[in-house]
Amino acid sequence: MFQALLIEKDDTGYRAAVRSLDDAQLPPGDVTVRVSHSTLNYKDALALTGKAPVVRKFPMVPGIDLAGVVESSAHPDYQPGDAVLLNGWGVGETHWGGLAQKARLQGDWLIPLPAAFTPQQAMAIGTAGYTAMLCVMALERYGVRPADGEVLVTGAAGGVGSVAVALLARLGYTVVAATGRPHDAAYLQRLGAAEVLDRAQFTGPGKPLGKERWAGAVDVVGSQVLANVCATMKYRGVVTACGLAGGMDLPATVAPFILRGVTLAGIDSVMCPRADRLQAWQRLASDLDLDRLGDISRTVGLQEALVLAPQLLSGQVRGRIVVDVNP
Ligand code: NDP
Repeated sequence: MFQALLIEKDDTGYRAAVRSLDDAQLPPGDVTVRVSHSTLNYKDALALTGKAPVVRKFPMVPGIDLAGVVESSAHPDYQPGDAVLLNGWGVGETHWGGLAQKARLQGDWLIPLPAAFTPQQAMAIGTAGYTAMLCVMALERYGVRPADGEVLVTGAAGGVGSVAVALLARLGYTVVAATGRPHDAAYLQRLGAAEVLDRAQFTGPGKPLGKERWAGAVDVVGSQVLANVCATMKYRGVVTACGLAGGMDLPATVAPFILRGVTLAGIDSVMCPRADRLQAWQRLASDLDLDRLGDISRTVGLQEALVLAPQLLSGQVRGRIVVDVNP
C-alpha cells in the first residue's frame, strides 16, 4: 500500500483527498519509482481544484513532477536504485503522477536525476524552474544578450517567475520584476531583480505600441499583460510566453511584430524533446545559484498541498512548493 493524492469525479462531484492505494492499482509502465518528493505547480493546483479540465481520466493521481528512486525496471536505461526525475509528458493529467509515494511510468519519460541536485532541490526547481530555464534558453537562442538592455519577468513572485529572476540575474541580465505583490519586493531583489514594478501598470487596456523598454521578457501571465509587454518591447526584442495565470486570451495587435520585428517565442515544457530537457537541467545545474532555493521554496506534505492548491491559483503562494510525500 502507498499514500497518494487521488482525484475522483462522479455524479456526486469532483474531489481530491489523501488515499491509501494498492500497488496493484498502479497504471501500466516499464519503470516503478519510489517517489521521495513532488511539487505543487500551477497545473497541479488546477487539477486538484478542478478549476480547469487538466485531468483527462479519473480516478487520477495528480503531480506533473517527481523525483525518486527506481524500485523495479524493465527499461534498458534504468536499474533498481537509480535516482530519477520526471517533468510533464501528461503525467498527472492522463497518467498517474508524482503526488504519491509510488509511480509506475514509461522509462522514456524519465531522466537521470542530475548529480548537482538532491531530490528536494530538483523539486524546488520542478517544472516551473525547468520552464524558466527553457525561457532563458529561448532568449539566448533568439540573440538577447545582457548588454542589450532590461529583461522583464511577469508573475515574478510565482514559481516560474522566481526561478527566471534568479537565473537571468546570475547570467548578468538586468532583470525587472513585475508583481501583484509589491510587499514581496525585497524577496525579488534578493533573487537579483534590479527593479520591481507593480503588475497594475501592465493590466489595463494598452496601445498597439508603447515606449520601447524591454530587450527580452519572460511572461507567465498571458492576456492583457502579454499584449502590453509585446507593445513595449525594444526593436527586435524577444518575448517568451509560457503561461496563462492572467488568462488564455491575447488582446494584442500585430504592430510590435511587423513594425519592431519583435519575436514572440512559445515555450512548452510538457512535450519538450528529451535532448532539450537534458540541456535545460544541465544549464540549471551550472547557472542557478542553489543557495537561492531555500528562499524560493518551502516543503509541505500531501495533505497541506491540497490546502495550498486554491491559494496558489489566487496568486497567494510565493515561489515554489515542494511536496515531501513521505512525511
Ligand atoms: P504560480 O501560481 O506560482 O505563479 C503565477 C504568478 O502569476 C503568480 O504568483 C502571480 O505573480 C501572477 N498572477 C497570478 N494571477 C494573476 C492574474 N490574474 N493576473 C496577473 N498575474 C497573475 O504559477 P507557476 O509559476 O507555476 O506557473 C505560471 C504560469 O506558467 C501558469 O499559467 C502555468 O500554467 C504556466 N506554466 C506553463 C508551462 C509550460 O510548459 N508552458 C510550465 C509551467 C508553468 P505575482 O504575484 O508576482 O504577480
